[in-house]
Amino acid sequence: LIRFDSVTKRFGTHTVLDSLDMTVYSGKHVTLIGPSGSGKTTILRLLMTLLKPDEGTIKVGPHFLTHEEKAGKLVPAGEKHIREVRKNIGMVFQQFNLFPNMKVLRNITEAPVHVLGLDKDAAEERARELLDLVGLTEHLDKYPTQLSGGQQQRVAIARALAMRPQVLLLDEVTSALDPELVAGVLDVLRDIAHTTDITMLCVTHEMNFARDISDCVMMFDSGRVIEFGPPEQIFSEPEHERTREFLSAVL
Ligand code: ATP
Repeated sequence: LIRFDSVTKRFGTHTVLDSLDMTVYSGKHVTLIGPSGSGKTTILRLLMTLLKPDEGTIKVGPHFLTHEEKAGKLVPAGEKHIREVRKNIGMVFQQFNLFPNMKVLRNITEAPVHVLGLDKDAAEERARELLDLVGLTEHLDKYPTQLSGGQQQRVAIARALAMRPQVLLLDEVTSALDPELVAGVLDVLRDIAHTTDITMLCVTHEMNFARDISDCVMMFDSGRVIEFGPPEQIFSEPEHERTREFLSAVL
């Protein structure tokens, strides 16, 4: 479903991703781990088309985000592809980024109504189902500031799912939360991982969570995947010295 071919991204003279090759198959849950600054967030931002690579090709489903080969020539991806891809990808950030002036229900229905053109009743019905899934049915009439950080993050997850994306990108979604609120958010995500066929790409420092939900864990260092495999292998028998060092520091 997602493919990076020789993707390089630089900020000034700093090469953040160095000729990265990466494939994520449909329905799989992939966790990106690695030291701070190794380029994990940059990958998610490239996928969301918030950034463009300097070199290489990114493809999501049938759509190219960068350039595609036509008659042996590389031509830039069209706006249409990029819009399609954005519609198919939901992203949840460390900061919840809810619309502060809208109540919970409207936070969730806003994009389905205005971007997908869903009618308001259908969008509300879907929003109620999602609020049930994230355990917030009784809060649908509140404003974000009336909720805890963990509850706000669960609304943000429901909001991302309301667009029925094929891919859910999660960028350190529990990092900004008080420790006692982390478990509730991770439980919701575990539930989603185990009960839906959504493809998940997740940057996290929560190694137990990564172990529970991942089909594949990718270890990054200096802009490259240095090792990947099922969680049992990466966490129990890492091959790379750098992975061992990283895991012994975080576990
Ligand atoms: P963390 O776990 O700390 O979030 P990360 O692996 O997600 O780290 P990235 O956020 O992808 O790392 O950043 C990789 C490197 O790129 C860092 O050194 C960062 O300072 C740099 N960087 C990221 N975004 C920009 C930007 N817009 N301009 C300049 N440098 C940037």
